[in-house]
Amino acid sequence: TLAPELKDTGPEKLLAPVLSAFWDEDRSWTLDVYRRHEGYEGLRKALAMSPDDLIAYVKDSGLRGRGGAGFPTGMKWQFIPQGDGKPHYLVVNADESEPGTCKDIPLLFANPHSLIEGIVIACYAIRSSHAFIYLRGEVVPVLRRLHEAVREAYAAGYLGENILGSGLDLTLTVHAGAGAYICGEETALLDSLEGRRGQPRLRPPFPAVAGLYACPTVVNNVESIASVPAILQNGKEWFRSMGSEKSPGFTLYSLSGHVASPGQYEAPLGITLRQLLEMSGGMRPGHRLKFWTPGGSSTPMFTDEHLDVPLDYEGVGAAGSMLGTKALQCFDETTCVVRAVTRWTEFYAHESCGKCTPCREGTYWLVQLLRDIEAGKGAMSDLDKLNDIADNINGKSFCALGDGAASPIFSSLKHFREEYEQHITGRGCPFDPAKSTAWA
Ligand code: NAD
Ligand code: SF4
Repeated sequence: TLAPELKDTGPEKLLAPVLSAFWDEDRSWTLDVYRRHEGYEGLRKALAMSPDDLIAYVKDSGLRGRGGAGFPTGMKWQFIPQGDGKPHYLVVNADESEPGTCKDIPLLFANPHSLIEGIVIACYAIRSSHAFIYLRGEVVPVLRRLHEAVREAYAAGYLGENILGSGLDLTLTVHAGAGAYICGEETALLDSLEGRRGQPRLRPPFPAVAGLYACPTVVNNVESIASVPAILQNGKEWFRSMGSEKSPGFTLYSLSGHVASPGQYEAPLGITLRQLLEMSGGMRPGHRLKFWTPGGSSTPMFTDEHLDVPLDYEGVGAAGSMLGTKALQCFDETTCVVRAVTRWTEFYAHESCGKCTPCREGTYWLVQLLRDIEAGKGAMSDLDKLNDIADNINGKSFCALGDGAASPIFSSLKHFREEYEQHITGRGCPFDPAKSTAWA
C-alpha cells in the first residue's frame, strides 16, 4: 500500500491518492469507513442528472479504460443503444492476470465500495438493471470481502429496488472465474459467464452491440469503474486538472520487481518511472535498472534509456510501447533477459486457448527455441526463427493474447540481442541465478 509518509512531502507531492487514499485505515473495506470518506456521494450527484447527461459528463472528463487499452469510458457507455427493448448489462472485468498486473485485486481488497458505487452510477447511465463482477476465482479472500461489501450495499439501499428513491432497480452478481488468463479477454469472459468454455468471439460485433446473452453490454475494468464516483464527487474539471489533455486524471501504477518499495502508487497520468523510483526509494540497494515493462509483459519492454518517458497513453506509445495496465516490472542488472522472456513465453503458451493456429502453435515453438537458447543449446539461426515465429503470431492471431506473446520477443531482441548471442556463443547463461530474486 501507499506509505503515508509519501503522501505530502518532497517530490511525493506528485502522488494523487484517490482510490488508495484510505487503504491504510482500519477496516478500510467497510461501508462505514467508505461513507466517512464521503462514499456514495458521487452516486447522489449522478442520480440528480439524466442518464444522457451523465454519460456526457463522464465522456467530458476524459476517463480512459484502465484495463490496458485506454478506450474512452464515456464513449463506450454511449455505444449502448437506447430504446431497443433489450436488457442492457454491465460486466466488470476483475479477471486481472497479465503478468506484473496487480492493481485491481488490492483495490477490491481495500476499497470494494468504490467499485460498487461506480457500478450503480454506470448502470443508471446505460439503463441496466443487472450488473456482474467477473472476479479471478483464485483470490478467495477478495471474493469473500466483495460478497460482504455487496451485502452491505444491499442492506443500505445502494443496491436492490428503487435505489435512493431514484426508481433505479439493480441486481449485482459476483461471479468467480476458474483461473484462465484468456477469460480476461472481454468476449471470452462473456462466454465463460454464460457457462461456456471461455474462448474469444469474433469482434465486431463488439459487446456494446451484442455482448452478454447477445444483448448490449458494457465491459469495463475495475479501476475504470471505481474511478467514476470520484469524478462525480470532485468534478470533471478536477479530474482534467491532472494528467494531460488526451490522458487526463489519476491512476494506479504497480511497481514491482527489484525495487526497494514495491506497491501501488497512485499518481496523475504522465508521471515518469524516474519520478516514481525517486519517491519510492529506487532500485534495491547497490543495483541499477536494466529493463522494465510499462504495462505488463505484453507491452514492449523498455530500458534505462526510457526512464523519462511520460507514463501516459501518448508518451509510452511515442516511445514504442503501450501503457497497458501500468504494471511497472523493474529488473536489475542481475536478471537474464533471455530467462525472463522464456518465463513470460511459457506463461503465454500455457494460457493460449488454442482457438487459432498462429498463437497455439507459435507460442509452443517460441518456448522450445527459448529453452534451448537459455540452456546453451541454441544456434545463431534461432534468433531469426524467433523473430519469424513472433512475426507470424503478431497481428495474425484471433485475439490480443497472440500479440502480447510476440511483444517481449521483439523488444528483447531489439534491446538485448547481444545477450541472446552470448547464450549461444558461450553455450549457456552468463548470469548467476542465485544473485537474482525475480524468478526464484
Ligand atoms: P481493444 O482496443 O480491442 O478494445 C478496448 C475496448 O474498447 C473493448 O472493451 C472493446 O469492446 C471496445 N471497443 C473498441 N472498439 C470498439 C468499437 N468500434 N465499438 C465498440 N466498442 C469498441 O482492446 P482489447 O483487445 O479489448 O484489450 C487489449 C488490452 O488488454 C491490451 O492493451 C492489454 O494491455 C490489456 N490486457 C489486460 C490484462 C489485465 O490483466 N488487465 C490482461 C491482458 C491484456
Ligand atoms: Fe486463443 Fe491465442 Fe488465438 Fe487468442 S490468440 S484466440 S488466446 S489461440
